[in-house]
This record gives sequence, structure tokens and C-alpha cells, in this order.
Amino acid sequence: MLGPVLLAASRSDRMRQIVAAAPVTRPVVQRFIAGDELGPAMDTVRALTASGLQVTLDHLGEDVTDRATAHATRDAYLRLLETLAAAGLGERAEVSVKLSAFGQSLPDGGHDIALEGVRQVAELATASGTTVTLDMEDHTTVDSTLAVLHELRRDHPGTGAVLQSYLFRTEDDARALAVAGSRVRLVKGAYKEPANVAFQDRKDVDRSYVRALRTLFAGDGYPMVGSHDPRMIAIAQELAARHHRAADTYEFQMLYGIRTAEQRRLAEAGQRVRVYVPYGADWYGYFMRRLAERPANLAFFLRSFVPA
Ligand code: FAD
Repeated sequence: MLGPVLLAASRSDRMRQIVAAAPVTRPVVQRFIAGDELGPAMDTVRALTASGLQVTLDHLGEDVTDRATAHATRDAYLRLLETLAAAGLGERAEVSVKLSAFGQSLPDGGHDIALEGVRQVAELATASGTTVTLDMEDHTTVDSTLAVLHELRRDHPGTGAVLQSYLFRTEDDARALAVAGSRVRLVKGAYKEPANVAFQDRKDVDRSYVRALRTLFAGDGYPMVGSHDPRMIAIAQELAARHHRAADTYEFQMLYGIRTAEQRRLAEAGQRVRVYVPYGADWYGYFMRRLAERPANLAFFLRSFVPA
């Protein structure tokens, strides 16, 4: 019940001000965000990679409404890639980008503005021996994001994309992307979507996830299993065995701060595990989606308002 309310709140400026101003918010936010600045985030990246995990870094931000902010996003990613390369982490750390932070929804050429910005990021990523994954946002952006993927993969074939199993279209998209060299992160989906484009029942979302997993594991691409759900992880492992996939032909991905013991357990069992590490001051939308996914997170957050 509360999930949709929180997802609606994740796009409210008024709620953003209230939540960000509350002093008790910070400790709860820190569970999911690796810091407001790149410095602390790099400490997290070093610790995770030293323990055998890989990472994908997200410089937080979304829904930018002017070109200057879109350019600032691009510049933040260029700085991030330079920092990763200087730290010798190019092989273990890649970056995840939200095209709305690169200007995708700007009127008058937003798609092209985002493409040009992310192309520069992909160029530096390739030169540094790493990759970019395009996060997926709400359903209105999927065509544009997949078109950007198509463009980028011409010169940067390692560029990855995300498919969301709650969308009806995802089975077709999975089939189209299950091709050699194609990196696809499959997730359930984190936005509030209408019933004419997306499954509303969790069971249907899960069934769709399994169908897309089957397609991706049977294909020639590189599946990235973006889920904390033990059932989805077990099914992915069964599919990997059935298709005789070596451990370096697919990977598991989880979010920073969620099921960390399971991340380590899988890595110690010889699986490739990548942690999605968000950092930056613009954490509000990301944080609210994490609260919406799990009532226990919201309860923890609300309890922090009550004086001890
Ligand atoms: P669920 O059924 O939601 O959860 C399974 C179990 O995982 C829960 O029982 C709980 O133990 C644990 N869990 C799940 N979420 C939380 C949480 N917030 N806090 C604490 N425990 C939790 N979505 C997009 O729409 N676009 C993206 O680009 C995108 N990128 C992602 C990248 C990665 C690496 C991951 C892991 C997720 C991403 N998501 C993205 C979010 C995704 O769509 C889901 O909302 C989220 O992963 C929860 O779904 P689940 O598969 O973990 O299963």
C-alpha cells in the first residue's frame, strides 16, 4: 500500500525539502549511499574491491531540467572515471548512468544532448578499460535509452543496459538483447508504472523476471542478475548450470547496503558479484525508491524520528 505513495513522493519537491532537512534522515541515508562526495565513495569502493567484489558507481542525480546541470553530470562522471583509473580500479569498477541526469527529458533535443554527454563518458570508460551501464528509468524513457544503447554499442560494445521485468515489453527486449557481447542487467523495476504498460502484481513481475532470465541465459550475451531475491538468484544459478556457463559469463548485482552478507557469500562461492554504489548529494529520489521497496526500511526511517 505504502509503496506507490512513497514512489509518488520520490518526485515531489516539497517532500524532498522536508526529508532532506530532517536531521535524523542522515544516518538512515548512509545505509544506502556511500557519501555525498567522491572521496568517501572511493573508500567504499576500495574496501569492496579488496574483499573480492566488483562495483558499479552511480553519481546520484536524475530528471535535470537545464543543460548546465546535464553538463555538470557528464563532468562528474569524467572525474569519477579519471579517479578510478588513477587508483588502478578500472578492471573492477565500472559506472552506471541515468540518462535523465544527462538531459534526456529536456525539451528541444534532450535525447541528443544525453547521447552526446554519455558518449564522452563511454569514450573515457573504454580508454580506461572499463564500461558504462545505462540505468533504466520510467517507461516513457525506455525507447530513447535503448536507442542510445544501440548508438553507443557501435563504438563501445561493452556498454550495458537495464531491463525491468515489470514492463510487458521486457520479454521482447530481452530477446533482442540476448546477443553476443551484450551486457544486460535484469531488475524487477523501481518506478510507479501504470497498468497499461506494467504488471501490478508482484507474482506476475516475478514470473516475467524468470522468463527474461531464461532468455538471457539461453542467449549469447552477458546476463547481469540485478536482484536480492533468493529465488531469482537460485533460478539464475540453475540456468547457468543448465547452459554450461562459465562463472565469468554472467554476474550477480546487488545494491550497496542491501544483503551484504549474501553478496560476500556468493563471491566466496566463486560467483562474480558487483555492488551498485551510489554517491552524491542528490540522493533523495534513490533513497525514496529504497524505502518504497521494503516497509521495514520505512519503519526504520520513521523510528529514527522518535527521540530515544
Ligand atoms: P524484491 O522481491 O523486492 O526483494 C527481495 C528481497 O531483497 C527482500 O525480501 C529483501 O530481503 C531484499 N530487499 C529488496 N529491496 C530491499 C531494500 N530496498 N532494502 C532492504 N532489503 C531489500 N530499478 C530500475 O527501475 N532501474 C534500474 O536501473 C535499476 N538498477 C538496479 C541495479 C541493481 C544492481 C539492483 C540490485 C537493482 C536495481 N534496480 C533498478 C532496483 C530493482 O528494480 C528493484 O526495485 C530492487 O532490486 C528490489 O527488487 P529485488 O529483485 O531485490 O526483489
